[in-house]
Amino acid sequence: MSSSDAPVIASPTNSVPVSPSVQFNFENTYARLPDRFFSRLAPTPVAAPRLVKLNVELSRSLGLDPDALASAEGVEILAGNRLAEGAEPLAMAYAGHQFGHFVPQLGDGRANLLGEVIGQDEVRYDIQLKGSGPTPFSRRGDGRAALGPVLREYIVSEAMAALGVPTTRALAAVTTGERVLRERILPGAVLTRVAASHLRVGTFQYFAAQGDIEGTRTLADYAIARHYPDTAQAKQPYRALLDGVIARQAHLIAEWMLLGFVHGVMNTDNTSISGETIDYGPCAFLEVYDPAAVFSSIDHQGRYAYGNQSRAALWNLARLAEALLPVLEQVKGSEEATLISAKEALAAFDPQFEAAYGAGMRRKLGLFTEREGDGALAQDLLQIMAANRADFTLTFRRLCDAAAVPERDKEVRALFADPGVYDSWATGWRRRLEAEPASAQERAAAMRMANPAFIPRNHLVQAALDAAVERQDLQPFEELLDVVTRPYEDRANLERYATPARPEECVSQTFCGT
Ligand code: AMP
Ligand code: MG
Repeated sequence: MSSSDAPVIASPTNSVPVSPSVQFNFENTYARLPDRFFSRLAPTPVAAPRLVKLNVELSRSLGLDPDALASAEGVEILAGNRLAEGAEPLAMAYAGHQFGHFVPQLGDGRANLLGEVIGQDEVRYDIQLKGSGPTPFSRRGDGRAALGPVLREYIVSEAMAALGVPTTRALAAVTTGERVLRERILPGAVLTRVAASHLRVGTFQYFAAQGDIEGTRTLADYAIARHYPDTAQAKQPYRALLDGVIARQAHLIAEWMLLGFVHGVMNTDNTSISGETIDYGPCAFLEVYDPAAVFSSIDHQGRYAYGNQSRAALWNLARLAEALLPVLEQVKGSEEATLISAKEALAAFDPQFEAAYGAGMRRKLGLFTEREGDGALAQDLLQIMAANRADFTLTFRRLCDAAAVPERDKEVRALFADPGVYDSWATGWRRRLEAEPASAQERAAAMRMANPAFIPRNHLVQAALDAAVERQDLQPFEELLDVVTRPYEDRANLERYATPARPEECVSQTFCGT
């Protein structure tokens, strides 16, 4: 596709009325980029918007008034039936490799970027409606989202934020009063997603694939200004941009690995330039530690298995490097020098990932200092956890108590099919802890901040979605959200949320629901 075939402006801000009373204070920059970066169009109004959940804390941190958002007019904005003043709705253009296959045009097929707001942290955030109707990028899709996947994204992205992982956020979920047809008929919903930006590796690929060097450079300059402002002064800003994205992705994937998070659909269009986790489709958390764990129903080859995630990220970053080659070359002057530079940048991924992962594992094990053999100590634990089918999250959480009081080893060893293998490992661990300066209490407290008690366990997420969709019962969703957004706190009477699924409760497969 050549750039002249870029999506036409389907309609201006069609017939969606502007709300007089709900203020967003939009300050838009993406809408100032050239026309071929997006397609301007408003959301498609829905029959009967109803608020399911509003993220009050997040709205305040974005300088938005939660009461106004929860008002009838606010809910109409969150459903796409009205626009806040200053909104310049658009669907972003992007491409992407999906499971290794390049698709030159994906784009927002069911989302509208409404605009950008400056949060109280002085950071600029995108406000996007997801599930807000068809766009020129919808291909065969209906432009809509079903309630189940919207609530899944709400729960898991908010859990990730509370766990301290860079991520897009959920500002609100509304139902539309309309049905969407998937494998069956389901209630429709719209998610309001907040992101540092929605720039993806696939956004760069979109321009690169068209040979649009000017577009690639404009996008790179935009990404630098928005996410990597320090690199603007670098001798080679585009190389510095590439380095920056690689560094953030290396740290991000390390965080995922340390929490047992399986993204499930690490396509290049789901790889964010800002380094946030984006696109909570078929994601899931490990129960038993297993590098080969795959949950997504469409990941037949295990391309995005838990243990493949750093490799998949590096592959995606290589696609970013390729897309940036033309602009890198203009600085480097020769094709050969450019290739060497790009390879050099990519070679930094593994060491940064390993360092972040290693440091995180030491935190999980209560090690404040670094010694030779720490990596092996962690690997040995993971290996016996796998062989003994020990729950990943619960083992590490119980280890916090054992670090404070050795008698509590019994609660850890109970998770192992053969408790004796834990005892041998723990002997080595305690020996290593003797070399640590921290007191047992300090150590246990630090470990409790690195090993969550609560993650959104797959069976609990599924039960919460089922209750909401099948019985219009939002109580399980509310309760689960409350628990997973305070993941590091020990709280009474919540054992159910900290305990692995019983065999009959186990959810081994997840679906994107698109
Ligand atoms: P995802 O699998 O959510 O990353 O989406 C991949 C691509 O498919 C993106 O371009 C989406 O906008 C598009 N897409 C997903 N679901 C729909 C839908 N229901 N209608 C239109 N486009 C969709
Ligand atoms: Mg996506």
